[in-house]
Amino acid sequence: SNIIAIVGRPNVGKSTLFNRLTESRKAIVDDLSGVTRDRHYGVGEWTDKQFTVIDTGGYVANSEDVYEAAIREQVMIAIEEASVLIFMVDVTTGITDLDDDIAQVLRRSNKPVFVTANKVDNTALHSEISTFYGFGLGEVYPLSSMTGSGTGELLDEIIKNFEDVPEEENQLPKITIAGRPNVGKSSLVNALIGKERNIVTANAGTTRDSIKIHYNQFGHEFMLIDTAGLRKKTKVKENLEFYSVMRTIKALEEADVVVLMIDAQEGIESQDINIFHLAEKNKKGIVILVNKWDLIEKNTQTMKAFEEQIHERIRPFTDVPIIFTSVLNKQRIFKAIETALEVYKNRSKKIPTSKLNDVMLPLIEKFPPPALKGKHIKIKYITQINATSPMFAFFCNLPQYIKDPYKRFIENKLRENFDFSGSPIQIYFRQK
Ligand code: GDP
Repeated sequence: SNIIAIVGRPNVGKSTLFNRLTESRKAIVDDLSGVTRDRHYGVGEWTDKQFTVIDTGGYVANSEDVYEAAIREQVMIAIEEASVLIFMVDVTTGITDLDDDIAQVLRRSNKPVFVTANKVDNTALHSEISTFYGFGLGEVYPLSSMTGSGTGELLDEIIKNFEDVPEEENQLPKITIAGRPNVGKSSLVNALIGKERNIVTANAGTTRDSIKIHYNQFGHEFMLIDTAGLRKKTKVKENLEFYSVMRTIKALEEADVVVLMIDAQEGIESQDINIFHLAEKNKKGIVILVNKWDLIEKNTQTMKAFEEQIHERIRPFTDVPIIFTSVLNKQRIFKAIETALEVYKNRSKKIPTSKLNDVMLPLIEKFPPPALKGKHIKIKYITQINATSPMFAFFCNLPQYIKDPYKRFIENKLRENFDFSGSPIQIYFRQK
């Protein structure tokens, strides 16, 4: 998994770098989903590598007495969960005690650390960066996250540390069970594998990876990634959310399909929406389970009302299966898994070019993109791009004139004619 965590004391400029690393994707993604990004984690891209970036600073509590301890603990969590760490310092202030503290924690880690000296906004400051070699953490990268200078050089080095997924693991569908605490994730995993797993409590300072279970029963074979398997106590209670977000992000990164469990009694909440959007932004397949359905008083309208409420919150990507489950009564749990596997298929589906053009071109001819400034836009040819999730290129004379509403029309038509249920779709207009 490719997770970059930006660590460092407050005010060194972590969030400016975070914005810069995630902005290349922002235009495309926000365009499609119409959502605002979470301020603390997002998706970035450099050359053809995708990654998740976490700005640890966003989670630090304000109160003075917890803050240094909280930062130190966050760095430890980040070391465990991220693949690469950016340790940001400020060239205008030099090394502070807290910087030294963080450096000490980082020196003991075995993860790649990139010391970046921020606010090197002019060449006069270049000579100042040598002091940061004193951390003993290797190369120091000068950065001006305000102007963006240095970002490319830093990313060139960082992506060399990303690992490729082993071939064997790549061949099986990977399904992550995600959701807030107590929605029933562990219960679902236990019900599926038919036994109570023995959860060994980790010794202080050591954690296990998100738990992967090779499932091979009833004719289905896949990897189950369990985010609930381990609950570590954080010393600083303010870090609990940070910790759970880190784990969720990591498990999402590895997944093909995310099974997002929500609690029927509580409905879909903002934390659920965050997970949903993160999965969507990462182009993962999604299935929503409304669990504890046994606790809901129902009539013939209840399911429909629930579905509508969920659709309202996850707009515009609503082509997502919703399954009503009771893990307690083992109601529809296999249906949930079968649906997740269907979503996996939809996400890896390749539509032959001839079929794509035969179906889509007549629809486009009937409802062409509206002319702009008197110019007619003509879409001539469509092809599915070879990628891990559905991606289509529409070749036309004036791609820059095609607006979002038309893009949505195209997406809807693709979804109506080919089943992409649960899978995000990317559409690009290109000049022939
Ligand atoms: P996790 O934190 O998401 O792993 O949630 P758990 O699997 O630990 O479940 C939290 C609590 O909800 C436990 O007491 C479960 O027995 C209960 N629970 C899980 N699924 C259901 C369900 O479908 N119906 C009811 N009534 N309770 C459930």
